[in-house]
Amino acid sequence: MTTVYWLTRDLRLDDNPALQEAAKGSALVCVYMIDPRWFEPGPCGWSPMGPHRWAFTWRSLIALDAALNTLGQQLVIRWQRPEEGVPEVVKTLGAQRLVASRPAAFDEMRQWQTIEAALPFVRCDLIETLTLFDEADLPFRLDALPDTFSKFRRSIEKPDLASLAPLDKPAALPAAATLLDADQRLASPMPGQSETPFAGGEASGADHLERYLWKDQSILTYKITRNALDNASASSKVSPWLSAGALSARRLAAEIARFEGEVDRNESTYWLYFELLWREYFQWYSRHRGRELFLSPGHKGQHTGSTDAVEFRRWLKDAATHSLVRAGRVQLETTGYLSNRMRQIIASACIYEGHFDWRLGAAWFEHFLVDYDVASNYGNWQYIAGVGADPRGGRVFNLEKQVSQFDADGSYRKRWLKAP
Ligand SMILES: Cc1cc2nc3c(=O)[nH]c(=O)nc-3n(C[C@H](O)[C@H](O)[C@H](O)COP(=O)(O)OP(=O)(O)OC[C@H]3O[C@@H](n4cnc5c(N)ncnc54)[C@H](O)[C@@H]3O)c2cc1C
Repeated sequence: MTTVYWLTRDLRLDDNPALQEAAKGSALVCVYMIDPRWFEPGPCGWSPMGPHRWAFTWRSLIALDAALNTLGQQLVIRWQRPEEGVPEVVKTLGAQRLVASRPAAFDEMRQWQTIEAALPFVRCDLIETLTLFDEADLPFRLDALPDTFSKFRRSIEKPDLASLAPLDKPAALPAAATLLDADQRLASPMPGQSETPFAGGEASGADHLERYLWKDQSILTYKITRNALDNASASSKVSPWLSAGALSARRLAAEIARFEGEVDRNESTYWLYFELLWREYFQWYSRHRGRELFLSPGHKGQHTGSTDAVEFRRWLKDAATHSLVRAGRVQLETTGYLSNRMRQIIASACIYEGHFDWRLGAAWFEHFLVDYDVASNYGNWQYIAGVGADPRGGRVFNLEKQVSQFDADGSYRKRWLKAP
């Protein structure tokens, strides 16, 4: 049996149940679609895929291809809309099975359904690779997802650790089915320049984690340092690899548990797992909410602010806009990364100081973040706007208070604005 494995946000060999499932056939083709629409400007003027995530994704693809080569396989990279490209590959090969990772959000799920409908005689399977838990392991039905993170966490916090055990890399893979065409990497675009400090690829993610956890042991102070505005070791910085699927959430959880067993366990080591549960909550929240994750009133019916994208862009740079927000804009657009605290500050300022519709900010983040994750991004923006999973109905950050707590000496603003 020939199987096509369509890779999306699962760019790894380690702990990859979709790859293991796809490898059960006698022949395998691993394919990745670069969707041209990623680079087309959306309603707010930004394309979904900005320079930082693209540079990161590209390196992840090259690295994955090299890793597959060591197992006699390769990654076929195509520049095509998945709804057209995936059925075309399956039909050209006469494949009997299509495997992919379960998508996190509404549009991607609809895309999968279109692909499935185009392949009525092919077995099409979605496998969970993005989350810590499988849906079947959740102690509630998805349509009864707790409406706040706290309730979710309490219900899930003591998982059956055996069910979370990550899978090892496969030792072997089936032979590659006859290739369809030459790999298209030379024809692919490199839009924009990126100065992101993050390097894509599973091996670089593993090296990064090794350094943060085992060599520097920075996890031991995570809870104290995590709110720093701009400090490389203040938080784990694993988000780009998690988002691309170059590192699995289960592997990260397992490494935290191993560290606790072999080195030390304290409030900080627990807190990194706690934050991973936030990510987990937003993944299920996105699946539960579907289209509503992207609607302005969320599911609570509130009205949010101006949808004027031109004015929003002007406001972000305006000298009258708070220097902390202007500094954050420069850091985000230059590097693709902001600390969680800066993301919260900026989101709050966009919504409550600039009076903009939160979706403008979410689209801006989507374009520039190297670690953009649809569920975490839209879920967090909704949360701060008070139209999502926030029991307090929104989070307003007092900018002067944030400055006095996190940038009293002005060093963050000096670094990114040169002069605050
Ligand atoms: C407005 C806004 C937008 C955001 N957009 C994204 C996004 O597109 N992609 C993304 O990965 N994270 C997003 N976050 C969450 C969080 O800011 C980042 O995950 C975190 O800053 C990444 O840095 P880190 O890996 O050092 O995190 P750490 O503090 O080391 O946390 C470890 C991991 O836990 C998860 N995590 C931590 N905090 C959150 C959170 N609040 N929500 C969801 N997951 C969390 C992430 O996977 C993170 O990598 C957003 C937060 C806000 C407030």
